[in-house]
Amino acid sequence: MVFFFFTCGTHTFTSRLPGTEHLTVQCQNCGNHSGHVYKRWQWFTFCFVPLIPFSLKPYHEVGCGICNFYQDIKYRPDVQAQMGGGGGMGPGAQQGGYAMGPYK
Ligand SMILES: [Zn+2]
Repeated sequence: MVFFFFTCGTHTFTSRLPGTEHLTVQCQNCGNHSGHVYKRWQWFTFCFVPLIPFSLKPYHEVGCGICNFYQDIKYRPDVQAQMGGGGGMGPGAQQGGYAMGPYK
């Protein structure tokens, strides 16, 4: 009888999002101004070696150093505004401006 013990798991890389190190935002869980913007990227590991990323892009989250509350940055438009640029939504809303003449 041979058993294979595969050590599978997940590993989450967490780092400060470049360009946001100076930002300190309010935590919506405990209310303290102790939140920072983190980049979290979860990987599937095999024998402690990260092999496959769970997602193609890292999550951008607001993490609180006091209560360890993490919140996706998409729920924090105030933080996105502080990051500048708003995260690439772009002015895509085209105004369908057909200037029809006034009806008579
Ligand atoms: Zn908090």
